[in-house]
Amino acid sequence: MKKTPEITRRQFVKGALAVSAGLAAARLLGPGAVFAEAAPEAAYDLARGTVRLLNGMEMPVFGLGTYTLMNRVAESSVYEALTAGYRLIDTAAAYGNERGVGAGVKRSGVPREDIFLTSKLWPTNVAMRDIDRRLELLETDYIDLLLLHQPYDDYIAAWRTMEQAVHQGKVRALGLSNFTASQVEEIRAVAEIPPVLLQVETHLHHQQHLGAEYLAHHGIAMESWSPLGGRPNTPLFLQDETVCAVAEERGMTPAQVIIRWHLQSGRVCIPGSGNPEHIRENIGALDFSLTDADMARLDALEQKAPYFPEMGLQEADTLAVMEGWSKGA
Ligand code: NAD
Repeated sequence: MKKTPEITRRQFVKGALAVSAGLAAARLLGPGAVFAEAAPEAAYDLARGTVRLLNGMEMPVFGLGTYTLMNRVAESSVYEALTAGYRLIDTAAAYGNERGVGAGVKRSGVPREDIFLTSKLWPTNVAMRDIDRRLELLETDYIDLLLLHQPYDDYIAAWRTMEQAVHQGKVRALGLSNFTASQVEEIRAVAEIPPVLLQVETHLHHQQHLGAEYLAHHGIAMESWSPLGGRPNTPLFLQDETVCAVAEERGMTPAQVIIRWHLQSGRVCIPGSGNPEHIRENIGALDFSLTDADMARLDALEQKAPYFPEMGLQEADTLAVMEGWSKGA
């Protein structure tokens, strides 16, 4: 692994702020940018609505999540989303709705090359035939981003199979979901094709700022799952006093404010919905800005309270990995 200079956490953040000064979206750059020798250029560009991944691909920073949508609803929701202007769709083998997602893509008439499709492999099913099955269900020749859904089983062997799929042109980029920093390090240590993105639980009560610093150091994009808190918790977030106050002041809806907070925090955001009105409402998050003061009010809602504490980045583990860098590990 590349060595990073000896640096305290305070300098780390201060330096990053200096680096980002003068940029329109300074806070999107992420404190990891201070590790100039390790971090690639800041790649998150909210003005364009894309993040440039480590392998050079551009990924939309906003999209549709499809968890719990059955095939029929997945099809109509993907259709609604694509016709409303979405270009990123997130599905998974475990959701059982890839056929519906593929049908929605076809029905939309949006050219396949204009759409960024993410799917995920369940770790017990990662043979090449499982990847081929995703293509068949999605009715596509390639998946833009394939994630390993959980760090179970032999995830190193799984990664090797996924790398083969990239070599065979079936997949364009690889990423991880619900891995800890140590587990990401394990993958990076052996990867021929490094992960470009980590999808993790992130919302106003579990903001993952340390995790974001860790990922920025490697130039790995961060994607929020359950960005509205996930069902059945969304009322807690959408009816939150601060969220509602900011929404009223900006003339936007609470959902748009929360999604915008994710976007201005530099995360890829994929709110889930099978409701056409909500789908159209949510993309409105691209059309306004939160002030620094708004962002600070929303940041202050942090509780470090994940709904799934056993999954994904763990602060103690992340900190241990990052401390290892400053010791030259
Ligand atoms: P979410 O936070 O996006 O919330 C979804 C809920 O919010 C749904 O009940 C939906 O009806 C409601 N909602 C959406 N827009 C709304 C609006 N404008 N007004 C009112 N209610 C609204 O939770 P999620 O769906 O769990 O997460 C988003 C996506 O992340 C998923 O769909 C899935 O694609 C992905 N995900 C991945 C993992 C993982 O392990 N990798 C886990 C969970 C979710």
